[in-house]
Formats: sequence, C-alpha cells, structure tokens
Amino acid sequence: MNAEDSPDWNALPDEDFRQRIRSYLEAHYPDQFRYPSRRLFWHEIGFWYRRMSEIGWIAPNWPREHGGMGLDPAKLLIFYEEHERWGVSRFADMGILMVGPLLIGHGTPEQRRQWLPKILSCEHLWCQGYSEPNAGSDLAGLRTEAVRDGGEYVINGQKIWTTLATDANHIFVLARTDRDAKKQAGISFFLVPMQQPGIRVRPIRDVAGHSELCEVFLENVRVPAANLVGAPNEGWRMAKALLGFERIFLGAPKYPNYALGVLARVAQARGIQDDPAFAQLFTRLRMHVEDHAACYERFVEIVKRGEPVPPDISMLKIISTESFQAIADQVIRAAGEAGQLSGMVPLGAGEVDVLGPFFRALPSTIYGGTNEIQRNVLAREVLKLPT
Ligand SMILES: Cc1cc2nc3c(=O)[nH]c(=O)nc-3n(C[C@H](O)[C@H](O)[C@H](O)COP(=O)(O)OP(=O)(O)OC[C@H]3O[C@@H](n4cnc5c(N)ncnc54)[C@H](O)[C@@H]3O)c2cc1C
Repeated sequence: MNAEDSPDWNALPDEDFRQRIRSYLEAHYPDQFRYPSRRLFWHEIGFWYRRMSEIGWIAPNWPREHGGMGLDPAKLLIFYEEHERWGVSRFADMGILMVGPLLIGHGTPEQRRQWLPKILSCEHLWCQGYSEPNAGSDLAGLRTEAVRDGGEYVINGQKIWTTLATDANHIFVLARTDRDAKKQAGISFFLVPMQQPGIRVRPIRDVAGHSELCEVFLENVRVPAANLVGAPNEGWRMAKALLGFERIFLGAPKYPNYALGVLARVAQARGIQDDPAFAQLFTRLRMHVEDHAACYERFVEIVKRGEPVPPDISMLKIISTESFQAIADQVIRAAGEAGQLSGMVPLGAGEVDVLGPFFRALPSTIYGGTNEIQRNVLAREVLKLPT
C-alpha cells in the first residue's frame, strides 16, 4: 500500500489506534522473533520490514507527503510502545529514524528525491557513523576528515561501535571539514554508499559472542559534494536536530518491564514465586518500575502537547537503564545454576533465555549518551551545579 493512501491515523481515537497496531502485531509478527536477546540481522528479520514497507508502516515518523504514516507525537509513541510491548525486533533502521527526518528537514529537493524512496522500500539500509575510537561522549573531538576535491569530498578516518554496519549498504558520517574551526563548528554531515573502494567493515565480537557492532574504516573514500547534507561545517547542528524524540524512547519502562516478565517466568519455573524473600524482592522491583512508568508518563504528556522536552528527561534514561540492569541481575540469581548458561535454557516445563536481559541491559547505560553524561546534564542544566 502506498502510505499516502493509508488512513488518516491521527483522526482515530488513541485507544482505537493502539488496538489496530496491537492486533496486527499479535496476528502477524512471528513468535520466535519476539524479544530476541540481540539485534537481529537483515537476513533474519528483513521479511518483516519488507512487509511493513508494503503496508505503508515502515516510516511512522515521516510525514505522509514523503511516504510516511505522518503520526502525531501521541500516535507515534503508541506505535512504538506497542512494538516494544510485543517485543518486535528492530533492524538497521537508521535510515528511517535519522536520515529520512534529516533530509525532510534540511535536505535539498534533489536529495529527498534521490534517497527517501529507497529508504522506504528497504533497498537502502543505513548505519550511523558518529563514534570514533577517541570520540564517543566527546563526539565533537572526532578526527575523521573530509577534504574537498573538485566536485567531491575525500573522506579518511575510522568509526567504531557502528550498529549493524554489516547489514547496511549506506552509512551517514560526521567528518571534520574545517580543522581550524572550533571543535563543533568544523564538522559536516555526509551520506556515504558503502559498496565502494576504500570502505572496510570489521565486526566486533561482544561479550555475548554476538557481532552486531562494527568498526568501519574509510580510506580515500570519494563522495559527491551533493552528498553533504545542510551547509558545510553545519554537521553538528544537523546531528543535534536528530536527538529530540529518541530521548523519550530510551527512557521508556519497556525494558525493565520485559526483564520483570522474564524474572516472573524464571521464578515460576523454579517454583520460588511464593518464597517470602523472593516475593519481597519482586514487589520492590515492581514498585520501582511503576514509579518509573509514572515518571515516563509525565514526559509523554509533554511530548503529546508538542512541547520541547526539558533537560530533566535525562533522569528517565538513568532510571530506566539502571533498573533494567538491576532486574536482569536478579533474573540470573533467581535462575540458580541455569544463570550461567546463555541461549534458551530448559527451566521447569519450558525454556527461558536467562542471560538475554543481562546482555541487553549491559550496554544500555552506554549508548544514547552514557549515564554519567546524563548525570552531568542534570547537574548542569537542572540542578545548576557548578561543573
Ligand atoms: C550497543 C551500542 C550501540 C552503539 N551504536 C552506535 C552506532 O550505531 N553508531 C555510533 O556512532 N555509535 C554507536 N555507539 C557508541 C556510543 O555512542 C558510545 O559508546 C558512547 O557515546 C560512549 O562513548 P565511548 O564508548 O567512546 O566511551 P567514552 O566516551 O570514552 O566514555 C568512557 C567512560 O567515561 C565516562 N565519561 C566520559 N566523559 C565523561 C564526562 N565528561 N563526565 C563523566 N564521565 C564521563 C563515560 O560515561 C564512560 O563511562 C553504540 C554503543 C553501544 C554500547
């Protein structure tokens, strides 16, 4: 279905909309791909996103005139909440989440014509080339450089922690275009096809034995000057413009809730759910998650009203990820001996992925701005402490 022919979703009452999304996922999304313990690869989950593309649901966050669902903030939250609730796996979705909105907001008409349709059709899969070996939290310290050469830029440098770069055929890259300017001022934003000479991707094997993160090496990579988005040296502004909505998703109670569900399953399987010590622990964790959900709702209301999110939203990410880690730890303890086994582990009458929540929780305090950086934001911008 062409997204422009899709219903006016925003005209539906919120609960009807929620029900439509929920029923579709429950009827069609395969059980074996719910709550995977790692990001799935395109060869595993691509069939689902091709289907999303066909029914016009691939870009819920894009305006209808550009082929998206055009959801308002309240509907968009519901859309993602339902996906999280059902444990739907993401894919290499940076084209949908970042490149599309950026081009719609800051690209030229020609860039929009060239790139957007192929993101919607899933022909182009994108990854995010921001972080570098010595530029993560201090991203503005990045060293990858792009030098103008006639109608092209020549890019040299290295990116790291690039999620699903092995799936992607395009990468968006922040690169320094003015060495003499102040840190943030000399950076530009480039769209770079990956199947060309000079690009090498090396997967990184993580502690769980998965390889969804990668290093990306760029050696004399040539891109047309037309692939620069916005004005030269405006890349930092572009990157910041993209940060808005993800901050509320990172702080949603979805992951603590999911871990709590796994904890309940493990306790049931081991017959300890009525043990007073366990019941007390579970109640305490559950109350914490409820508090978190109430805090999340306060920010949801702000987003729904279309107001800018205040800086204290940083606390949501801290609460969410640290509670996720605390619950994931308890899953391992509750599983007894099975807590040392990865993958689906026979427990009681069924199977549980005991280490799944742990492996997902571990990096959550790092990506999307580390928790230390979020605490700095709170100290500086909310508490107004001297820093
Ligand atoms: C699962 C995962 C997926 C990722 N995917 C991508 C991706 O697709 N593309 C991409 O570009 N990047 C990606 N990243 C990288 C991520 O953005 C960085 O890891 C993050 O910005 C932190 O940078 P760093 O790892 O270099 O750590 P550093 O910035 O070196 O920090 C190391 C430690 O020092 C602390 N620290 C640093 N500065 C301060 C400070 N000023 N005050 C207090 N403490 C401080 C940090 O909190 C951290 O604990 C991903 C990371 C993870 C974990």
